[in-house]
Amino acid sequence: MAIGLGIDEPESLLRARAAQAIGISPAAVRGLRIARRSLDARRRGRRHDLRFVFHVDLDLDEKTRSPSLDRALKSGRARRVAAPARFRLEDFERKWESRRVVVVGSGPAGLYAAWTLASHGVAVDLIDRGPPLHERSRAVARFMRHRELDPEGNLLFGEGGAGTYSDGKLYTRTQHPLETPILETLVEAGANPEIAFDARAHVGTDRLHRILPRLRARLASMGVVFHFGTRLEALEMAAPGRVRAIRTQAGEIGCDAVVLALGHSARDTLRALVDQGLPAESKPFQIGLRIEHPQALIDRGRFGAEADIRRLGHAYYALVSKSEGRIPGVHSFCMCPGGQIVAAVAQRGLLCTNGMSNSRHSSPFANSGLVVTLGPREFGSGPFDGVAFQEAIEARFFEAGGGDYSLPAQRVPDFLEGRASPTLSRSSYKLGLRSTRIDRLLPESMTEGLRAAIRRFDRSLPGYASGEGLLVGIESRSSGPLRLIRDPDDRRAAGFENVFPVGEGAGHAGGIMSAAIDGARSAQALLMRD
Ligand SMILES: Cc1cc2nc3c(=O)[nH]c(=O)nc-3n(C[C@H](O)[C@H](O)[C@H](O)COP(=O)(O)OP(=O)(O)OC[C@H]3O[C@@H](n4cnc5c(N)ncnc54)[C@H](O)[C@@H]3O)c2cc1C
Repeated sequence: MAIGLGIDEPESLLRARAAQAIGISPAAVRGLRIARRSLDARRRGRRHDLRFVFHVDLDLDEKTRSPSLDRALKSGRARRVAAPARFRLEDFERKWESRRVVVVGSGPAGLYAAWTLASHGVAVDLIDRGPPLHERSRAVARFMRHRELDPEGNLLFGEGGAGTYSDGKLYTRTQHPLETPILETLVEAGANPEIAFDARAHVGTDRLHRILPRLRARLASMGVVFHFGTRLEALEMAAPGRVRAIRTQAGEIGCDAVVLALGHSARDTLRALVDQGLPAESKPFQIGLRIEHPQALIDRGRFGAEADIRRLGHAYYALVSKSEGRIPGVHSFCMCPGGQIVAAVAQRGLLCTNGMSNSRHSSPFANSGLVVTLGPREFGSGPFDGVAFQEAIEARFFEAGGGDYSLPAQRVPDFLEGRASPTLSRSSYKLGLRSTRIDRLLPESMTEGLRAAIRRFDRSLPGYASGEGLLVGIESRSSGPLRLIRDPDDRRAAGFENVFPVGEGAGHAGGIMSAAIDGARSAQALLMRD
């Protein structure tokens, strides 16, 4: 049930408040667990009336009763909580204990598929085309310093997948019960225990880099064998629809099943697999620009000038502007408080922005994607039509930036008025900016949608449309543009007996947690097959 606390009130008050809310004595509460904590920063008129809202799970004796508790249960303000799900299934096909599964991709979907399989005694080979973390970090540093892009080791490919250099936001809208055991593994590996309940939980790139080696060590102790620098190139078939091995550039690896957790930027591999008969379809995806402001402007707009940022943490925002007639709707996406804009690319000659931050959100900038949703009507219904659309616009932005990974940029008022920016504000992006009419690089309706949205957002967040805001692009990969078709129940690729497409690249997840949950759920489905 939800309990409010003033921002200066201690959490030790929760037990008494919760007991009072359901009309029982605090002594009757055997245990209390914070299930969720969020900050209510809605403005009431001109006032910023900040408070924390907690949802707590109470451990009560079964016989505990009170009229208030009965009313809360009846109205839905309180509910009985089931025990969280576990990776381990009670009832699974034991034959898998003597079998071998190849998991392709060490992003969250692949890691948690591997975790689930290994917890049931399955022999797992986890392959990734990219390098292990320490080598990957060197490749990323070379890119950030010298603009030398390594197509196999970068912000998208390598140990930990695309989220390894990110804000590490861990929230989903799915509220799936597997969220709890996944978060527990991260806490065991060194994440802040508050991620288990913070509605805005994030880990940060610096901490993720301490957590990933521990996760790898834990998986290795469960028998998972890691193969970095190993790229899946084709499936080797025993019979139509039945894979016997995977082919990599380093040779074959035999297996009884394959989990494909490729991420959405493995366009070459996805094309090769679809050519081999893996069924795919195009799906809607989001595209737009990234906007950056001084973090202090966002803090002031959300919390008021007097707020104690050390107590509250830096402000974030999630903004939505609905479509109106032909003007498309826009929403903010992957907002990184105290963050840094990065070029998340794996192919030379293309540009694509994203955001990352460290655990303390310590940069003076706030950035966020501002995206519209495009569907097959806008780019075509073939499985790779969305990818072709992305590639064309990513190449256009790369060229407009001067072909050296500088980002095309325009100040917000200039974007709104349709003119060039004679000067640009400071930015967190390390490879430089180039003043460009980016309003002209986008399809017209997208520019109109973004203009309408930014003007609206300025009303709820004063300063959003001011000259302190900067727009860069292109933000083209906030979700995947194709889906590998799978059976909704047993999660096998349509027409294949032992191939399981999972995660963001397969079009079945978006974001770290949802990819991790999708990988774990598909591994559980695999274990139920004979
Ligand atoms: C800069 C950045 C910041 C982000 N911030 C956040 C955030 O704060 N919160 C959030 O929820 N999400 C964030 N995301 C998105 C998130 O990272 C992805 O949604 C998530 O990683 C998808 O997980 P996945 O396992 O499906 O794929 P990925 O994480 O993309 O992993 C795929 C892996 O497969 C490997 N691979 C690809 N092809 C092959 C092949 N042929 N053979 C072998 N291996 C292969 C790749 O090297 C990669 O390691 C961010 C993404 C980026 C780029």
